[in-house]
Amino acid sequence: MYAPFGTTTVLGYPRIGPHRELKSAVEGFWAGHVDAAGLLAAAAKLREDTWRTLRDAGLAAVPSHTFSLYDHVLDTAVTVGAVPARFARLGLGALETYFAMARGTDAEPALELTKWFDTNYHYLVPEIGPDTAFAADPGRLLAEVAQARSLGIETRPVLVGPATFLLLAKADAAAPAGFDPLSRLDDLVEVYGALLAALHGAGVAWVQLDEPAYVGDRTPAQIAALARAYRRLAALPARPQIFVATYFGALGEALPALLDTPVEAVGLDLVAGPENLDGLAAHGQMPWRTVVAGLVDGRNVWRTDLRAAAAKAAALRELCDRVAVSTSCSLLHVPVDLDAEVDLDPRLRERLAFARQKVDEVVALGAAVRDGADGLPPAVAAPPPHWRDEKVRDRLAALGPGQRRRVPYPRRAAAQRERWGLPVLPTTTIGSFPQTAEIRRARAAWRAGRLAESDYVARMRSEIDAVLAFQERVGLDVLVHGEPERSDMVQYFAERLSGFAATAHGWVQSYGSRCVRPPILFGDVARPAPMTVAWSAYAQSRTDRPVKGMLTGPTTILAWSFVREDQALADTAMQVALALRDEVGDLERAGIGVIQVDEPALRELLPLRARDHRAYLDWAVAAFQIATAGAAEATQIHTHLCYSEFGAVLPAIEALDADVTSIEASRSRMEVLADLASAGYGRGVGPGVYDIHSPRVPEQAEVVAALRAAVAAVPAERVWVNPDCGLKTRGYDEVERALTRLVAAARQVRADQ
Ligand code: GLN
Ligand code: ZN
Repeated sequence: MYAPFGTTTVLGYPRIGPHRELKSAVEGFWAGHVDAAGLLAAAAKLREDTWRTLRDAGLAAVPSHTFSLYDHVLDTAVTVGAVPARFARLGLGALETYFAMARGTDAEPALELTKWFDTNYHYLVPEIGPDTAFAADPGRLLAEVAQARSLGIETRPVLVGPATFLLLAKADAAAPAGFDPLSRLDDLVEVYGALLAALHGAGVAWVQLDEPAYVGDRTPAQIAALARAYRRLAALPARPQIFVATYFGALGEALPALLDTPVEAVGLDLVAGPENLDGLAAHGQMPWRTVVAGLVDGRNVWRTDLRAAAAKAAALRELCDRVAVSTSCSLLHVPVDLDAEVDLDPRLRERLAFARQKVDEVVALGAAVRDGADGLPPAVAAPPPHWRDEKVRDRLAALGPGQRRRVPYPRRAAAQRERWGLPVLPTTTIGSFPQTAEIRRARAAWRAGRLAESDYVARMRSEIDAVLAFQERVGLDVLVHGEPERSDMVQYFAERLSGFAATAHGWVQSYGSRCVRPPILFGDVARPAPMTVAWSAYAQSRTDRPVKGMLTGPTTILAWSFVREDQALADTAMQVALALRDEVGDLERAGIGVIQVDEPALRELLPLRARDHRAYLDWAVAAFQIATAGAAEATQIHTHLCYSEFGAVLPAIEALDADVTSIEASRSRMEVLADLASAGYGRGVGPGVYDIHSPRVPEQAEVVAALRAAVAAVPAERVWVNPDCGLKTRGYDEVERALTRLVAAARQVRADQ
């Protein structure tokens, strides 16, 4: 059945709800005080509200199946029957199996969690093997179509496309070495064919298949696979029209391949990939195809320059008659509604657009494509002059390369050994300890002015005392203060640096029920006063063991903020780095001799194309060096990286020149250590020995096995023992059991050394 695509759409919308309703429902279900019916009702309500919002805003085409109880890649896996045998075997109900894959059970670790392209959203990595029995399960797709229809809204169901799904997957444990999930593409495409047939049977006119993997570097064989998949799907006798959506960059060599298939609509990101426009021009006229133009940025919070966007749309109209206006990607990555931010400085507020406002921008652009751009508002005026800080700019200009280098590692290592005298396989944690309801309440009360500053400080100090006592009791070697004063590792610093603004309700999903509230970096950055020194110095005064100072690195601060776009990211990073450099100096003067500068997002901002890696890593490394290289040789600098697929970042990890690097390793079965060793990384390394993203507590034997694997790959004198990441989302009960086993395992393996 032919139906036009519609002149305006979005590729997806936030799922969490304006008040994080998803979080309450899902976490309530896990905790047992919301039953399955309650959870599904909350989910249905969130979908309904979203569809109505999009329709009422005037969007011509509304997507469905963009909602998820946990993750859309997991949803696609379930829809195509790719539930790994290790979960199917548990014999649980559908909902329980779904959450078992997402979070693990006592018997089964969860699927691996990893970053969705270069965003701070995390997806669950499908496990695919030669025996994965794909099977179409269109139930939820059809149910959502029907639910939207009951509201009078015709929708376009969305799935991750088959090629991207397999490119994001990993080989399951049963697969032979060298198995490539993409080798299962033809089988999987059959199942997509069955899903499309089912949707067609239900009268669905359009389906959206997301293939963002093709904005990265792809081999000719992978590009040929994409073209083969869509030729095959397009050849189905009865199907909806197919919209292949791409985002996060330009398609490059995959664009002509995709345009050579008969799919009816192609979506291109014209914000992150303006080169897409040249690619289209090179292809020539496309009279029958719809181009869905991603003109409104789905990744950042700045208002769209609507006139510039309309000019791009006009250029597109020269190439094809059917142009639909859209967001550059799903709006999953921006907060829900700017209208909730009543306290923001109006000079900042007038420059912003969140998801709800971006929908209005799409609608306005759609009208401009139809009627001309005259009615569009002009771009926002230049920023106020006081957002600029000449002092910071002068200091940066004066900073020489010598200030980025420390004395050679062997000398530092010797000085640090002498200073601390730690045992081999020293134990530590990544920084945060469980944030109990009391801590959160105290922080909130202080923020709201209901708790006096002195009472707040006393409350936090007693928490620090408790966290230190806990760590001493468990037997850890290098302690942390536990970060009770931080609700978020970036927000905490943003609130203490000039040039940043915080939102009140600007939540964005990070993974599952976990949301973050990224600050907005709008102007020059400076540090008016020390940010962490008082807490760290207090903690160090309460114990004889070393306490690690805890800072967030410059690249991570940028990655987890919405960053100004009027200057290069590199320039912004150096300003943040300079502020951190001053903080490191102040920590040292306060007697803190171990300082961790977390860069969990170093990998996240890595450009999707290899040709852009060098320029990015150069500035990211330089910023880390500026932040840390002022430290004395006996000061031990740690860094923490929150992922396990190093690949292109490996040489940069070396260049950061930290004394100890703790990394995520447990979900990837310690494979990262071999990579590090083969790249010649020769400093301290703390491979995470258990997965903190899951409530599952490891057995001591598992930790011992992980440590034995570690000391087989890396000399024991360089190995540290720590969890995968911070513990703030966990409960004390699990943490106590896990850390006790971690310390016992370290002692056991130490004894063999
Ligand atoms: N120090 C931080 C913590 O422990 C690091 C968190 C992270 O890597 N995401 O919470
Ligand atoms: Zn981490």
